[in-house]
Amino acid sequence: MPHAPYLFMMGVGEFKVVKDVYTRPDGTKMDVNYYVESQWESSAKAIFGETPAMISHFSKLLGVEYPWDKYHQIVARDYVSGAMENTGAVVFGDFVYKTERELLDGNDQSTIAHELFHHWFGDLVTCESWSNLPLNESFANYSQYLWDEYRYGQDEADFQAEVETDGYYQSAQMQGYHNLIWFDYYDKEQMFDGHSYNKGGRILHMLRNHLGDDAFFKGIQLYLTTNKFKPAEFHQLRLAFEEVSGQDLNWFFNQWFLGAGHPVLDVNYETDTINHKISVIVGQKQDLELSPIFRLPVDIAVYDSEGKHVYKMLIDSLNQKHTCGYSGELKSIVFDDQKMLLAKIREEKPSEQYLFEYYNATRYKARKEGLLFGTQGPIVKTQKGQQLILDALNDKFWDIRLIAIEKAVKLKDENVGKANKLIRDLAMNDPNSGVRAAALGYLSNKLENADLSTVCIDRLEKDQSYLVISAALKSLGKIDVELALKKAKTLESEQSSKMISGIAQLYGAHAKEDALTFFENALKGSILQGFDQLGVLNSLTFFNVRQEPATIQKTFELYKYMNEAGGYYTKMFMSQNVAYLISMFDTKMAELDEEIAAHEKNNNAAYADGARRKKKEFNALKELFSTLPTE
Ligand SMILES: [Zn+2]
Repeated sequence: MPHAPYLFMMGVGEFKVVKDVYTRPDGTKMDVNYYVESQWESSAKAIFGETPAMISHFSKLLGVEYPWDKYHQIVARDYVSGAMENTGAVVFGDFVYKTERELLDGNDQSTIAHELFHHWFGDLVTCESWSNLPLNESFANYSQYLWDEYRYGQDEADFQAEVETDGYYQSAQMQGYHNLIWFDYYDKEQMFDGHSYNKGGRILHMLRNHLGDDAFFKGIQLYLTTNKFKPAEFHQLRLAFEEVSGQDLNWFFNQWFLGAGHPVLDVNYETDTINHKISVIVGQKQDLELSPIFRLPVDIAVYDSEGKHVYKMLIDSLNQKHTCGYSGELKSIVFDDQKMLLAKIREEKPSEQYLFEYYNATRYKARKEGLLFGTQGPIVKTQKGQQLILDALNDKFWDIRLIAIEKAVKLKDENVGKANKLIRDLAMNDPNSGVRAAALGYLSNKLENADLSTVCIDRLEKDQSYLVISAALKSLGKIDVELALKKAKTLESEQSSKMISGIAQLYGAHAKEDALTFFENALKGSILQGFDQLGVLNSLTFFNVRQEPATIQKTFELYKYMNEAGGYYTKMFMSQNVAYLISMFDTKMAELDEEIAAHEKNNNAAYADGARRKKKEFNALKELFSTLPTE
């Protein structure tokens, strides 16, 4: 099959091959193998096991059956760029190595979906030039939404979409704005940024919203079948959507693919209570040197005594007004009902409308907005505002419960007790480990010591999530260091990178010399991965700050070993750790100088000698550690 050369790969190493299978609609089978190091053999299916379901879902959604003869995935160490969609032989960095327990705190299905989707967008139809890279990466990015939506529901997909959107804003702020299809980059590497990936994914979501699912996926099918095994430019994508929808889409592609930036909208409402009319007034405030005046079809949801009405509004000039009616009492207006717009929106509406929005809007982003602004200002002191926080603690979606836990500090009087009870229940029973961990953090400032200790110990003994166990250790450490250290000791043998770095944090802050063996085993063992290894090294450095010279000296060999055998990040930040220790030695010696002077002044020769000896020890440490890289 015709194929672009950048998609070839060769992997050499000792791997276990864990076999899985995808069954095509015609009943034929295809190999789906996972190549992992032997100690990960038993976790391979937990990590990659959704792959056959993804191949099936994407094949159906796209109307183009997975086009290649196999789908294998291989994990490599110190891989330079996350993952890579080599046709039928995808490479992942070792960040995907996670045990079943670790997967409870987050999986890498988004990356798995992303690389798989490239097998249609990139591998089957290849971008004609790096300038057209969004034809590969925007689709791969959007596949993450499509998978989340199918597998975990719309709230999860919308939540992750917000994360992607923030990624675009941050990347653009740091590296500048440019057209999505970018012809005058300096280096092709610049194309691999928050525009080609994140922004492109959001643009496809808007296009899907505008065309509707039928036309959107039919258009994609046409694009894929017309251009298969060939390079494509973005015009070919537009032509496919135009062919299927019967619409001219130059306006959409010109502003989003050939334009830069995003809309910045001021949204205000005027209510005419006599004639029962509301006006939606929208101003486009983006920098017109950079961005066009956007054409934005949006839905406005109006909630009144009769229920919900949706009005279509086409924003296509700098200032615009759209008037619509309502019946009885106006309850709330929700701008962009589907919350699909990629835009910075400044909106003015009464707190009561936000409060109503939380309880009645369907999309995650609208409910979140409702919770955040329905509890802002004086309204949070009213029983309605207080009740909103309490109700959000029971929201169906985990991120809203997480925000409600943060908001719970605004509760007063008897509501505090009610919230403590609810959050105690979240800490014990919430299905999401992030919520349980956050609840434990909140409770560490709220519960009586005895009760907090009960909750922490319960989690330490029963919870499977390392995130929760680490949070329980931390909260317990606040009230009973000895007990926390004792509990941590029993967890030292857990084969989890996250758990080990959680224990290291506690030891870094509280442990004595006997924790040295733990640090040695952790850093010389094979469980720590990527950033976690660096985290443990940092914890060792904090640990050393509290130790006597003799103990610190024993850790030198470990630093030396890590400097030679440590992972990429550990080596990169080794000099920072060493420099930190050396400046600590200097501080100690300066303190000892003052001590010596004071002892001499008081004619305490023996004490002065003791301090001099200690200073000498620190000086020896300084010389010893100076043999390691310091910059
Ligand atoms: Zn990609």
